[in-house]
Amino acid sequence: MAETPQDIEELIGIMARLPGLGPRSARRAVLTLIKKRGALMRPLAETMARVAENARECVNCGNIGTGDLCDICLDVGRATGELCVVEDVADLWAMERGQAFKGRYHVLGGTLSALDDVGPEDLGIPKLRARMADEEITEVILALNATVDGQTTAHYIADELAAASVNLSSLAQGVPIGGELDYLDDGTISAALRARKRL
Ligand code: ZN
Repeated sequence: MAETPQDIEELIGIMARLPGLGPRSARRAVLTLIKKRGALMRPLAETMARVAENARECVNCGNIGTGDLCDICLDVGRATGELCVVEDVADLWAMERGQAFKGRYHVLGGTLSALDDVGPEDLGIPKLRARMADEEITEVILALNATVDGQTTAHYIADELAAASVNLSSLAQGVPIGGELDYLDDGTISAALRARKRL
């Protein structure tokens, strides 16, 4: 096999670190990009540079946007009093694809984990408490993954909010054990939201 120039190897190496891509897929992707340099590679490179420059975390909810506040937090129509707690931005985006939820979100950025030394302060749980009052939240929907850590975190938050006068619920069946929201189809997410259980 002919040698591949170093820059191209480097690009393949970087691409191979993306979720869902291994060395093989990265090689194929890079080959496609090079073949479609004008139509695909240059627009991709330019868009990536722009996003790398502008993307940031919303200071209120943790969503990714391009300003201090994300579009959802800026939208007064979404101040419905409902707050959906998710582990990761990917879960928030999955919920948005389902188009069933009209309130706002709180992104934890992970789950409680004694093993990895992740405590409530690391997950923005104090910030969650503050938002209860500031945004007149009446219902908190826990949309955490059905993993052990996800459920431990859900119980912790439920205990934390027990004293607050809010309705607490969690997504209904349909979220497979160990399954992450991002892998569910939009209809399943909507159904799980509609059939949410009161805690
Ligand atoms: Zn936000």
